[in-house]
Amino acid sequence: MKIHEFQAKELFRKSGIPVPRGEAAFSVEEAQRAAAALGNFPVVIKAQIHAGGRGKGGGVKLAANAEEVKQLASSILGMTLVTHQTGPEGRLVKKLLVEEGLPIEKELYLSVLPDRGAAKIVFMASEAGGMDIEEVAAKTPEKLIKVFIDPLIGMKGYHANELAFGLNLSGDLAKQFSAMAMKLYRLCVDYDCSLVEINPLILTKDGRVIALDAKINFDDNALYRHKDILEYRDLDEEDPFEVEASKFELNYIRMPGGNIGNMVNGAGLAMATMDIIQQAGAAPANFLDVGGGASAEQVENGFRIILADPSVKGVLINIFGGILRCDRLANGVVEAANKVGIKVPVVIRMEGTNVEEGRRILNESGLNLITAKDVSDAAQKIAAIVKA
Ligand code: GDP
Ligand code: MN
Repeated sequence: MKIHEFQAKELFRKSGIPVPRGEAAFSVEEAQRAAAALGNFPVVIKAQIHAGGRGKGGGVKLAANAEEVKQLASSILGMTLVTHQTGPEGRLVKKLLVEEGLPIEKELYLSVLPDRGAAKIVFMASEAGGMDIEEVAAKTPEKLIKVFIDPLIGMKGYHANELAFGLNLSGDLAKQFSAMAMKLYRLCVDYDCSLVEINPLILTKDGRVIALDAKINFDDNALYRHKDILEYRDLDEEDPFEVEASKFELNYIRMPGGNIGNMVNGAGLAMATMDIIQQAGAAPANFLDVGGGASAEQVENGFRIILADPSVKGVLINIFGGILRCDRLANGVVEAANKVGIKVPVVIRMEGTNVEEGRRILNESGLNLITAKDVSDAAQKIAAIVKA
Protein backbone atom coordinates (compact mmCIF):
# COMPACT_ATOMS: atom_id res chain seq x y z
CA MET A 1 0.00 0.00 0.00
CA LYS A 2 1.15 3.50 -0.79
CA ILE A 3 0.50 6.61 1.26
CA HIS A 4 0.83 10.33 0.63
CA GLU A 5 3.91 12.41 1.39
CA PHE A 6 2.08 14.35 4.12
CA GLN A 7 1.13 11.08 5.81
CA ALA A 8 4.67 9.71 5.52
CA LYS A 9 5.95 12.92 7.08
CA GLU A 10 3.46 12.53 9.93
CA LEU A 11 5.01 9.11 10.61
CA PHE A 12 8.50 10.59 10.31
CA ARG A 13 7.60 13.28 12.83
CA LYS A 14 6.27 10.63 15.26
CA SER A 15 9.53 8.70 14.81
CA GLY A 16 11.68 11.74 15.51
CA ILE A 17 12.89 12.16 11.93
CA PRO A 18 13.18 15.88 11.08
CA VAL A 19 10.81 17.18 8.38
CA PRO A 20 9.88 20.72 7.31
CA ARG A 21 7.04 22.42 9.22
CA GLY A 22 3.79 22.28 7.29
CA GLU A 23 0.36 20.79 6.93
CA ALA A 24 -1.99 19.22 4.40
CA ALA A 25 -4.63 21.35 2.67
CA PHE A 26 -7.71 20.19 0.77
CA SER A 27 -8.85 23.56 -0.58
CA VAL A 28 -7.34 26.88 -1.62
CA GLU A 29 -8.61 28.50 1.60
CA GLU A 30 -6.96 25.79 3.71
CA ALA A 31 -3.73 26.28 1.79
CA GLN A 32 -3.86 30.02 2.48
CA ARG A 33 -4.49 29.41 6.17
CA ALA A 34 -1.67 26.84 6.34
CA ALA A 35 0.73 29.27 4.68
CA ALA A 36 -0.25 32.06 7.08
CA ALA A 37 0.32 29.72 10.04
CA LEU A 38 3.89 29.09 8.87
CA GLY A 39 4.63 32.76 9.48
CA ASN A 40 7.15 33.52 6.72
CA PHE A 41 7.94 33.05 3.04
CA PRO A 42 8.77 31.35 0.79
CA VAL A 43 6.38 28.44 1.30
CA VAL A 44 6.28 25.34 -0.86
CA ILE A 45 3.02 24.10 -2.39
CA LYS A 46 3.21 20.39 -3.17
CA ALA A 47 0.67 18.24 -5.03
CA GLN A 48 -0.18 15.09 -3.09
CA ILE A 49 -0.59 12.08 -5.39
CA HIS A 50 0.70 8.53 -5.12
CA ALA A 51 3.42 9.08 -7.69
CA GLY A 52 6.85 10.67 -7.81
CA GLY A 53 8.41 13.09 -10.26
CA ARG A 54 5.95 15.80 -9.22
CA GLY A 55 8.59 18.52 -9.27
CA LYS A 56 9.38 18.05 -12.96
CA GLY A 57 5.68 17.75 -13.79
CA GLY A 58 4.86 21.13 -12.24
CA GLY A 59 3.33 19.82 -9.01
CA VAL A 60 5.86 21.41 -6.61
CA LYS A 61 6.10 25.22 -6.55
CA LEU A 62 7.59 27.89 -4.33
CA ALA A 63 5.35 30.81 -3.34
CA ALA A 64 7.03 34.08 -2.38
CA ASN A 65 3.97 35.78 -0.85
CA ALA A 66 0.32 35.23 0.11
CA GLU A 67 -0.94 36.18 -3.35
CA GLU A 68 1.26 33.51 -4.96
CA VAL A 69 0.05 30.94 -2.45
CA LYS A 70 -3.50 31.59 -3.63
CA GLN A 71 -2.53 31.47 -7.31
CA LEU A 72 -0.41 28.32 -7.07
CA ALA A 73 -2.83 26.46 -4.80
CA SER A 74 -5.67 27.22 -7.25
CA SER A 75 -3.68 26.06 -10.25
CA ILE A 76 -2.27 22.88 -8.68
CA LEU A 77 -5.50 21.74 -6.98
CA GLY A 78 -7.62 20.15 -9.68
CA MET A 79 -4.80 19.89 -12.20
CA THR A 80 -4.13 16.60 -13.94
CA LEU A 81 -0.52 16.02 -13.03
CA VAL A 82 1.49 13.96 -15.49
CA THR A 83 4.82 12.53 -14.31
CA HIS A 84 6.98 9.64 -15.48
CA GLN A 85 5.23 7.52 -12.82
CA THR A 86 1.57 8.38 -13.57
CA GLY A 87 1.46 7.29 -17.19
CA PRO A 88 0.21 9.63 -19.91
CA GLU A 89 -3.29 9.87 -18.42
CA GLY A 90 -1.89 11.62 -15.31
CA ARG A 91 -3.52 11.93 -11.90
CA LEU A 92 -6.08 14.45 -10.65
CA VAL A 93 -4.67 16.48 -7.73
CA LYS A 94 -7.12 16.67 -4.81
CA LYS A 95 -4.76 17.39 -1.93
CA LEU A 96 -1.85 19.69 -1.21
CA LEU A 97 0.95 19.90 1.30
CA VAL A 98 1.94 23.42 2.33
CA GLU A 99 5.39 23.66 3.87
CA GLU A 100 8.02 26.14 4.93
CA GLY A 101 10.56 26.70 2.15
CA LEU A 102 14.04 25.76 3.31
CA PRO A 103 17.41 27.08 2.12
CA ILE A 104 19.01 24.05 0.44
CA GLU A 105 22.78 23.60 0.57
CA LYS A 106 22.83 20.08 -0.86
CA GLU A 107 20.38 17.37 -1.95
CA LEU A 108 21.14 13.75 -1.01
CA TYR A 109 19.31 10.48 -1.59
CA LEU A 110 18.51 7.94 1.11
CA SER A 111 16.28 4.87 1.15
CA VAL A 112 15.84 1.72 3.19
CA LEU A 113 14.05 -1.45 2.11
CA PRO A 114 14.16 -5.22 2.41
CA ASP A 115 16.42 -6.87 -0.16
CA ARG A 116 14.77 -10.23 -0.80
CA GLY A 117 17.74 -11.69 -2.63
CA ALA A 118 20.15 -10.92 0.19
CA ALA A 119 17.55 -11.57 2.91
CA LYS A 120 18.72 -8.34 4.53
CA ILE A 121 17.61 -4.78 5.03
CA VAL A 122 19.50 -2.51 2.65
CA PHE A 123 20.18 1.19 2.89
CA MET A 124 20.88 2.97 -0.37
CA ALA A 125 22.40 6.42 -0.33
CA SER A 126 23.82 8.87 -2.80
CA GLU A 127 25.27 12.34 -2.95
CA ALA A 128 23.41 12.71 -6.25
CA GLY A 129 20.04 13.38 -4.60
CA GLY A 130 16.95 15.19 -5.85
CA MET A 131 17.02 13.50 -9.23
CA ASP A 132 15.80 10.28 -10.72
CA ILE A 133 17.68 7.64 -8.71
CA GLU A 134 17.10 4.92 -11.32
CA GLU A 135 19.10 7.08 -13.71
CA VAL A 136 21.91 7.53 -11.18
CA ALA A 137 22.00 3.74 -10.63
CA ALA A 138 22.12 3.06 -14.38
CA LYS A 139 24.60 5.72 -15.49
CA THR A 140 26.83 6.30 -12.47
CA PRO A 141 26.45 3.25 -10.22
CA GLU A 142 29.55 4.30 -8.24
CA LYS A 143 27.53 7.21 -6.88
CA LEU A 144 25.05 4.84 -5.20
CA ILE A 145 26.28 3.23 -2.00
CA LYS A 146 24.62 0.26 -0.29
CA VAL A 147 24.87 -0.90 3.28
CA PHE A 148 23.32 -4.26 4.15
CA ILE A 149 21.95 -5.04 7.61
CA ASP A 150 21.16 -8.47 8.98
CA PRO A 151 17.71 -8.02 10.55
CA LEU A 152 18.49 -10.61 13.23
CA ILE A 153 21.37 -8.46 14.45
CA GLY A 154 19.82 -5.08 13.74
CA MET A 155 21.33 -1.74 12.85
CA LYS A 156 24.49 -0.71 14.68
CA GLY A 157 26.42 2.53 14.87
CA TYR A 158 28.98 1.32 12.35
CA HIS A 159 26.29 0.87 9.69
CA ALA A 160 25.27 4.50 10.15
CA ASN A 161 28.91 5.61 10.11
CA GLU A 162 29.52 3.77 6.87
CA LEU A 163 26.57 5.60 5.27
CA ALA A 164 27.62 9.00 6.63
CA PHE A 165 31.19 8.43 5.42
CA GLY A 166 29.93 7.37 1.98
CA LEU A 167 27.96 10.61 1.77
CA ASN A 168 31.02 12.66 2.72
CA LEU A 169 29.41 13.88 5.92
CA SER A 170 31.43 14.73 8.99
CA GLY A 171 31.11 16.44 12.36
CA ASP A 172 27.67 17.52 13.46
CA LEU A 173 26.05 16.75 10.07
CA ALA A 174 27.27 13.15 10.30
CA LYS A 175 25.87 12.94 13.82
CA GLN A 176 22.45 14.24 12.78
CA PHE A 177 22.44 11.96 9.75
CA SER A 178 23.33 8.85 11.77
CA ALA A 179 20.62 9.49 14.35
CA MET A 180 18.13 9.87 11.51
CA ALA A 181 19.27 6.68 9.74
CA MET A 182 18.84 4.66 12.96
CA LYS A 183 15.27 5.96 13.31
CA LEU A 184 14.52 5.20 9.66
CA TYR A 185 15.66 1.64 10.14
CA ARG A 186 13.32 1.24 13.15
CA LEU A 187 10.43 2.74 11.19
CA CYS A 188 11.04 0.45 8.22
CA VAL A 189 11.12 -2.69 10.35
CA ASP A 190 8.40 -1.77 12.87
CA TYR A 191 5.87 -0.92 10.17
CA ASP A 192 6.77 -3.71 7.70
CA CYS A 193 7.62 -1.20 5.01
CA SER A 194 8.56 -2.41 1.56
CA LEU A 195 10.23 0.96 0.94
CA VAL A 196 11.10 4.12 2.84
CA GLU A 197 12.62 6.72 0.54
CA ILE A 198 13.81 10.29 1.08
CA ASN A 199 14.66 12.12 -2.12
CA PRO A 200 15.94 14.65 -1.49
CA LEU A 201 17.34 14.44 1.99
CA ILE A 202 18.72 17.94 2.38
CA LEU A 203 21.53 19.69 4.17
CA THR A 204 20.32 23.23 4.88
CA LYS A 205 22.49 26.33 4.70
CA ASP A 206 22.20 26.58 8.49
CA GLY A 207 23.58 23.07 9.05
CA ARG A 208 20.50 20.88 9.52
CA VAL A 209 19.68 17.48 7.99
CA ILE A 210 16.01 17.32 6.95
CA ALA A 211 13.76 14.96 4.98
CA LEU A 212 12.40 17.27 2.28
CA ASP A 213 10.44 14.51 0.57
CA ALA A 214 9.03 11.29 2.03
CA LYS A 215 7.76 8.14 0.41
CA ILE A 216 6.66 4.99 2.23
CA ASN A 217 5.24 1.78 0.78
CA PHE A 218 3.90 -0.94 3.05
CA ASP A 219 3.79 -4.70 2.66
CA ASP A 220 0.06 -5.38 2.16
CA ASN A 221 0.35 -8.78 3.77
CA ALA A 222 1.43 -7.18 7.06
CA LEU A 223 -1.25 -4.49 7.18
CA TYR A 224 -3.44 -6.58 9.46
CA ARG A 225 -1.05 -5.69 12.28
CA HIS A 226 -0.94 -1.96 11.48
CA LYS A 227 -4.52 -0.76 11.81
CA ASP A 228 -3.27 2.84 12.20
CA ILE A 229 -1.66 2.66 8.74
CA LEU A 230 -4.85 1.36 7.13
CA GLU A 231 -6.46 4.70 8.04
CA TYR A 232 -4.05 6.31 5.58
CA ARG A 233 -5.46 4.38 2.63
CA ASP A 234 -6.70 6.78 -0.07
CA LEU A 235 -9.15 5.09 -2.43
CA ASP A 236 -8.99 8.14 -4.75
CA GLU A 237 -5.48 7.03 -5.66
CA GLU A 238 -6.32 3.41 -6.41
CA ASP A 239 -7.74 1.83 -9.54
CA PRO A 240 -11.54 1.71 -8.95
CA PHE A 241 -11.76 -1.80 -10.42
CA GLU A 242 -9.05 -3.03 -8.04
CA VAL A 243 -10.81 -1.38 -5.09
CA GLU A 244 -14.04 -3.16 -6.04
CA ALA A 245 -12.23 -6.50 -6.41
CA SER A 246 -10.56 -6.14 -3.02
CA LYS A 247 -14.00 -6.10 -1.37
CA PHE A 248 -14.49 -9.71 -2.45
CA GLU A 249 -10.93 -10.85 -1.75
CA LEU A 250 -10.28 -11.40 -5.43
CA ASN A 251 -6.67 -11.23 -6.59
CA TYR A 252 -7.29 -8.78 -9.40
CA ILE A 253 -4.82 -6.46 -11.08
CA ARG A 254 -5.75 -4.26 -13.99
CA MET A 255 -3.37 -4.22 -16.95
CA PRO A 256 -3.73 -0.99 -18.90
CA GLY A 257 -3.30 -1.42 -22.64
CA GLY A 258 -4.83 -4.89 -22.88
CA ASN A 259 -8.29 -5.79 -24.17
CA ILE A 260 -8.89 -9.42 -23.19
CA GLY A 261 -10.35 -9.90 -19.74
CA ASN A 262 -9.56 -13.19 -18.14
CA MET A 263 -10.83 -15.13 -15.16
CA VAL A 264 -8.76 -18.02 -13.90
CA ASN A 265 -8.45 -20.08 -10.73
CA GLY A 266 -4.99 -20.26 -9.27
CA ALA A 267 -2.22 -17.68 -9.64
CA GLY A 268 0.06 -19.98 -11.64
CA LEU A 269 -2.66 -20.88 -14.12
CA ALA A 270 -3.57 -17.18 -14.37
CA MET A 271 0.04 -16.24 -15.21
CA ALA A 272 0.20 -19.01 -17.81
CA THR A 273 -3.11 -17.88 -19.30
CA MET A 274 -1.81 -14.34 -19.67
CA ASP A 275 1.26 -15.69 -21.45
CA ILE A 276 -0.90 -17.73 -23.80
CA ILE A 277 -3.09 -14.72 -24.59
CA GLN A 278 0.09 -12.82 -25.52
CA GLN A 279 1.28 -15.75 -27.59
CA ALA A 280 -2.01 -15.69 -29.52
CA GLY A 281 -1.16 -12.11 -30.48
CA ALA A 282 -3.48 -10.32 -28.05
CA ALA A 283 -2.97 -8.60 -24.67
CA PRO A 284 -4.62 -9.37 -21.31
CA ALA A 285 -6.61 -6.54 -19.72
CA ASN A 286 -6.24 -7.94 -16.24
CA PHE A 287 -4.88 -10.61 -13.98
CA LEU A 288 -7.59 -12.36 -11.98
CA ASP A 289 -7.12 -15.33 -9.75
CA VAL A 290 -10.52 -16.11 -8.24
CA GLY A 291 -8.81 -18.50 -5.85
CA GLY A 292 -8.89 -22.25 -5.49
CA GLY A 293 -11.93 -22.30 -3.22
CA ALA A 294 -13.97 -19.56 -4.90
CA SER A 295 -17.69 -19.46 -4.27
CA ALA A 296 -20.27 -18.94 -7.03
CA GLU A 297 -20.64 -15.44 -5.58
CA GLN A 298 -16.93 -14.69 -6.02
CA VAL A 299 -17.00 -15.97 -9.57
CA GLU A 300 -20.01 -13.77 -10.21
CA ASN A 301 -18.28 -10.69 -8.78
CA GLY A 302 -15.06 -11.37 -10.64
CA PHE A 303 -16.91 -11.75 -13.91
CA ARG A 304 -18.96 -8.61 -13.24
CA ILE A 305 -15.80 -6.55 -12.55
CA ILE A 306 -14.13 -7.79 -15.76
CA LEU A 307 -17.22 -6.94 -17.81
CA ALA A 308 -17.43 -3.46 -16.28
CA ASP A 309 -13.98 -2.53 -17.65
CA PRO A 310 -14.62 -0.60 -20.89
CA SER A 311 -11.28 -1.68 -22.39
CA VAL A 312 -12.37 -5.34 -22.28
CA LYS A 313 -13.42 -6.47 -25.78
CA GLY A 314 -13.56 -10.17 -25.05
CA VAL A 315 -13.24 -12.54 -22.08
CA LEU A 316 -11.39 -15.80 -21.62
CA ILE A 317 -12.43 -18.01 -18.72
CA ASN A 318 -9.93 -20.71 -17.94
CA ILE A 319 -10.80 -22.97 -15.03
CA PHE A 320 -9.34 -26.18 -13.80
CA GLY A 321 -12.01 -27.62 -11.55
CA GLY A 322 -10.31 -28.87 -8.43
CA ILE A 323 -11.60 -27.46 -5.18
CA LEU A 324 -13.58 -24.96 -7.28
CA ARG A 325 -15.94 -27.35 -9.05
CA CYS A 326 -16.94 -26.67 -12.65
CA ASP A 327 -20.67 -26.63 -11.86
CA ARG A 328 -20.13 -23.93 -9.26
CA LEU A 329 -18.13 -21.87 -11.73
CA ALA A 330 -20.84 -22.29 -14.37
CA ASN A 331 -23.50 -21.11 -11.91
CA GLY A 332 -21.45 -18.02 -11.07
CA VAL A 333 -20.93 -17.14 -14.71
CA VAL A 334 -24.63 -17.58 -15.53
CA GLU A 335 -25.70 -15.51 -12.51
CA ALA A 336 -23.35 -12.66 -13.43
CA ALA A 337 -24.35 -12.80 -17.08
CA ASN A 338 -28.03 -12.62 -16.22
CA LYS A 339 -27.48 -9.69 -13.87
CA VAL A 340 -25.17 -7.48 -15.92
CA GLY A 341 -25.65 -8.81 -19.43
CA ILE A 342 -22.74 -9.83 -21.66
CA LYS A 343 -21.93 -7.46 -24.49
CA VAL A 344 -18.61 -9.02 -25.49
CA PRO A 345 -17.70 -12.53 -26.70
CA VAL A 346 -16.78 -15.00 -23.95
CA VAL A 347 -14.70 -18.12 -24.51
CA ILE A 348 -14.67 -20.78 -21.81
CA ARG A 349 -12.22 -23.58 -21.27
CA MET A 350 -12.82 -25.78 -18.28
CA GLU A 351 -11.75 -29.20 -17.17
CA GLY A 352 -11.88 -31.18 -13.97
CA THR A 353 -14.36 -31.95 -11.23
CA ASN A 354 -18.02 -31.96 -12.37
CA VAL A 355 -17.08 -30.72 -15.82
CA GLU A 356 -20.06 -32.47 -17.45
CA GLU A 357 -22.48 -30.81 -15.07
CA GLY A 358 -20.75 -27.45 -15.67
CA ARG A 359 -21.07 -27.80 -19.45
CA ARG A 360 -24.75 -28.73 -19.11
CA ILE A 361 -25.43 -25.58 -17.03
CA LEU A 362 -23.67 -23.37 -19.58
CA ASN A 363 -25.35 -25.03 -22.57
CA GLU A 364 -28.82 -24.75 -21.07
CA SER A 365 -28.31 -21.16 -19.95
CA GLY A 366 -29.18 -19.76 -23.36
CA LEU A 367 -26.11 -17.52 -23.16
CA ASN A 368 -23.89 -17.08 -26.16
CA LEU A 369 -20.74 -18.65 -24.73
CA ILE A 370 -18.04 -20.17 -26.88
CA THR A 371 -16.45 -23.33 -25.56
CA ALA A 372 -12.87 -24.32 -26.28
CA LYS A 373 -11.25 -27.73 -26.18
CA ASP A 374 -8.01 -26.64 -24.53
CA VAL A 375 -6.15 -23.55 -23.37
CA SER A 376 -4.40 -22.63 -26.59
CA ASP A 377 -7.60 -23.21 -28.57
CA ALA A 378 -9.36 -20.84 -26.14
CA ALA A 379 -6.69 -18.15 -26.47
CA GLN A 380 -6.64 -18.37 -30.26
CA LYS A 381 -10.44 -18.22 -30.47
CA ILE A 382 -10.77 -15.12 -28.28
CA ALA A 383 -7.80 -13.38 -29.93
CA ALA A 384 -9.25 -14.01 -33.41
CA ILE A 385 -12.71 -12.76 -32.44
CA VAL A 386 -11.39 -9.60 -30.78
CA LYS A 387 -9.11 -8.82 -33.73
CA ALA A 388 -11.98 -9.27 -36.16
P1 GDP B 1 9.10 14.87 -6.35
O1 GDP B 1 9.53 15.60 -7.59
O2 GDP B 1 7.72 14.27 -6.51
O3 GDP B 1 10.09 13.85 -5.91
O4 GDP B 1 8.95 16.00 -5.19
P2 GDP B 1 10.04 16.55 -4.15
O5 GDP B 1 9.39 16.63 -2.83
O6 GDP B 1 11.29 15.76 -4.19
O7 GDP B 1 10.32 18.04 -4.66
C1 GDP B 1 10.96 18.29 -5.90
C2 GDP B 1 12.00 19.37 -5.75
O8 GDP B 1 11.42 20.59 -5.31
C3 GDP B 1 13.10 19.08 -4.74
O9 GDP B 1 14.10 18.25 -5.25
C4 GDP B 1 13.60 20.47 -4.43
O10 GDP B 1 14.62 20.85 -5.35
C5 GDP B 1 12.38 21.37 -4.62
N1 GDP B 1 11.89 21.78 -3.28
C6 GDP B 1 10.99 21.15 -2.51
N2 GDP B 1 10.86 21.77 -1.31
C7 GDP B 1 11.72 22.82 -1.33
C8 GDP B 1 12.09 23.85 -0.38
O11 GDP B 1 11.61 23.90 0.76
N3 GDP B 1 13.02 24.77 -0.78
C9 GDP B 1 13.57 24.76 -2.01
N4 GDP B 1 14.46 25.67 -2.34
N5 GDP B 1 13.28 23.80 -2.92
C10 GDP B 1 12.37 22.85 -2.60
MN1 MN C 1 11.35 13.61 -4.43
